[in-house]
Amino acid sequence: MTDLHRLSIRELSEGLKTAQFSSRELTEHYLKRIAQIDPKVKSYVTVTAEQALAEANAADAALKAGNAHALAGIPLAHKDIFCTQGIKTTAGSKMLDNFISPYDATVVAKAKAAGLVTLGKVNMDEFAMGSTSENSYVGATSNPWALDHVPGGSSGGSAAAVAADLAPIATGTDTGGSIRQPASFCGLTGLKPTYGRVSRFGMIAYASSLDQGGPMARSAEDCAYLMNVIAGHDAKDSTSINKEVDDYVANLNGTAVKGLRIGIPKQYFNVAGLDADVKARVEESLKKLEDMGAILVEIDLNMTEAYVPTYYLIAPAEASSNLSRFDGVRYGYRCENPVDLMDLYKRSRSEGFGAEVQRRILIGTYALSAGYYDAYYVKAQKVRRLIQQDFLKAFENVDVIAAPSAPTTAYKIGANLSPTEMYLGDIYTLAVNLAGLPAINAPVGFDKDSLPVGLQLIGNYWSESQLLSIVHQYQQNTDWHTKRAAIAEENA
Ligand code: GLN
Repeated sequence: MTDLHRLSIRELSEGLKTAQFSSRELTEHYLKRIAQIDPKVKSYVTVTAEQALAEANAADAALKAGNAHALAGIPLAHKDIFCTQGIKTTAGSKMLDNFISPYDATVVAKAKAAGLVTLGKVNMDEFAMGSTSENSYVGATSNPWALDHVPGGSSGGSAAAVAADLAPIATGTDTGGSIRQPASFCGLTGLKPTYGRVSRFGMIAYASSLDQGGPMARSAEDCAYLMNVIAGHDAKDSTSINKEVDDYVANLNGTAVKGLRIGIPKQYFNVAGLDADVKARVEESLKKLEDMGAILVEIDLNMTEAYVPTYYLIAPAEASSNLSRFDGVRYGYRCENPVDLMDLYKRSRSEGFGAEVQRRILIGTYALSAGYYDAYYVKAQKVRRLIQQDFLKAFENVDVIAAPSAPTTAYKIGANLSPTEMYLGDIYTLAVNLAGLPAINAPVGFDKDSLPVGLQLIGNYWSESQLLSIVHQYQQNTDWHTKRAAIAEENA
């Protein structure tokens, strides 16, 4: 079969169960595509071919014995922020260029336990700080829809790998949009779950009160399959919530679109810098949902202007604390020939971290320092609470809230936006993390340059099933999610 990469997760699961093809064949098919096509996309940092084939053989044995999990034998790629035992985990940083974790992240362990096959680790902005994946020490990843454009970030490798059909599904993480924005830039479906739904154990920390892992895939249905594997309580993550996990696949048709109240924040559609094509595609998708029976309700989210400044104080503050562990002593990069301890710290950190990471450590350290702590950090925490309350008030009147995932489509590689320009591009995604809410991106068409546009739906706490179900039904009635970049059409 030459078109195994065309199949959805449900089709792959059925094909494996009924022995139409083996996991070994499927895995070899993907490895061949990676070898041939990924040099143009550069989504993988590490390809784990040998381990993948061994896992595929084990899955085939389980499938034969009839005791396999629904996803056994299906390949996936992990963002290089999830620790993988025995395999390098770099977080896109020179600091961790030689880091091999002694244990698996819970997300990785759960995927393994379900029999999923790890194809490798995919590229990302260094320590998940960025929106283009250009901040990776291994270099930029290309957007499969236009190779001279970025795939978004920070989970740009995950998005590019799936959009080029170099993995059927991938894991990502989202601290301020890093699942939703690259999904938007690459025409994919990506879900950022409620804070605490997916374990952060073994996921290299950027901003611990905001970080959350989730699935990136071609459709809501594919995301639901991966969510069924990775969601759940984990005693090893103190912020993981001990709450029953939905069967996201069984619930795919569980939410009625008819009568669904979708809030349209006035402030969101008047943002300076909102691209006209993005606005038009998002509005068309909302019209489609309205045709399917949804009710569009204009709402106010008055805190919109506070999103970017609040996030860009809290996230760097937490990052400066989290990244203090990289001191050149315990693990990670160490400079050559330090003359004394201070020199060891200074040079290891200056040489090991890239420019954006250093900028954030400086901002965060400043915001946390005595004398500025109350004015910046404490103030930002208070505003964070107001942002959350703004959403909760809105949810008294609507079921979900609609927004673009990003104000623009993908930028050119090397566009070299200033830090503030780059940060402003995160306007639609940051507040969801500040409030801890779940949100999903769905592809809803293309701009004049044939680059994908994404619709974001934000739900109340624990509404992952609802979000997946709405997007699933939208995808049953539209075909945007079935469109493939030309490079994905290439057969290896
Ligand atoms: N672009 C945002 C940032 O740079 C969000 C990144 C993320 O979600 N990891 O912080």
